[in-house]
Amino acid sequence: MANKKILIVPGDGIGQEVTGVGKKVLDAIAAKFNHQFTYDTALIGHVAIEATGTPLPDESLAKMKASDAVLFGAVGHPAYDNDPTAKVRPEQGLLKMRKELGLYANIRPIKLFDELLDASSIKPDILRGADILFFRELTGDIYFGEKGRKNNGDTAYDVAEYSRYEIERIARKAFEAARTRRKKLCSADKANVIETSRLWREVVQQVALAYPDISVEHQFVDATAMLLIKDPKRFDVVVTANLFGDILTDEASQIAGSMGMLASASVGDGTGVYEPIHGSAHDITGKGIANPLASVLSVALMLDISFELQIEAKTVIAAVDAVLKAGYRTRDIANATTQNDKILGTQQMGDAVLQYLTT
Ligand code: NAD
Repeated sequence: MANKKILIVPGDGIGQEVTGVGKKVLDAIAAKFNHQFTYDTALIGHVAIEATGTPLPDESLAKMKASDAVLFGAVGHPAYDNDPTAKVRPEQGLLKMRKELGLYANIRPIKLFDELLDASSIKPDILRGADILFFRELTGDIYFGEKGRKNNGDTAYDVAEYSRYEIERIARKAFEAARTRRKKLCSADKANVIETSRLWREVVQQVALAYPDISVEHQFVDATAMLLIKDPKRFDVVVTANLFGDILTDEASQIAGSMGMLASASVGDGTGVYEPIHGSAHDITGKGIANPLASVLSVALMLDISFELQIEAKTVIAAVDAVLKAGYRTRDIANATTQNDKILGTQQMGDAVLQYLTT
């Protein structure tokens, strides 16, 4: 019996709606497998700014550090998206959380459930069998370097910086994962132009020496972006820097049919954070139509990676698979060309998953 403290951090927008479903799935797993999960909640993002004036209050950070895992929703608000001059912003909470918890590896599995072959805008023949595991570096790069304006604000700069140890530790995690899969690793960089990428390639080549069983390909990120759509099956594990990973994984979300289907794990030195890859989606907030399956699949990643409860993780994924096989869809994954889908809202989709979990 596992005894775990889980912090629920819904954040903003649809984060509030989908995280509730994730928690119900954790409850169902605890009941089914006789585990004890206890919960607390914490604020981050716009809701935290409204309540406390800061996007990540110290109290939230302390609770995160004291938990065994965090189930996270999303941060963001249109008021800030349209005001680049705002000094206090919801995303600062997310970046600070990653930095403070030492979350240097963002792991994103991209796998298409067979039932959703038609939900993607990519042809089924190209997609069938695609199964990619992304490792995006999370604590370095252009996001955290010095940034500012000069020339009376008419010139802006963001400094990208990477140190050897930051590249080494994420590369090792990616190589280790490749060992448990198809033993192929693609490192995406821009070493023909960017100095941080040159260091990236040098370090990945050095780390590779310890993994002679893994076949390594160094690819320019622009080529990776093209090949992901042209031939996604050629990829197994992909490791890349923070900014490139941000963009490539959103692109790859289309392989899985929708942003609403993709989960991620952010891991490092301490508490792991599990979250959908999508944002706060204010265009659909409050409508009850957000797809909660990315949050449900984030729970599966939490069970697998932080708690090492592999059977429980597989049980959650099997429940999602069963729900999709039964024809249940949220609107974002419905097939516009057939009338067979049973369209459900956020809570109903959660209930459908729970039904398969409890039977
Ligand atoms: P988004 O991911 O919120 O939404 C992109 C599109 O996908 C929208 O049309 C949305 O309706 C749809 N979508 C996303 N998740 C869905 C779901 N679960 N079910 C159905 N449809 C879904 O990205 P955006 O619109 O670029 O950003 C909105 C806000 O979220 C911004 O403030 C941005 O800064 C923030 N954001 C936060 C995170 C995060 O917290 N990790 C990530 C990305 C964006």
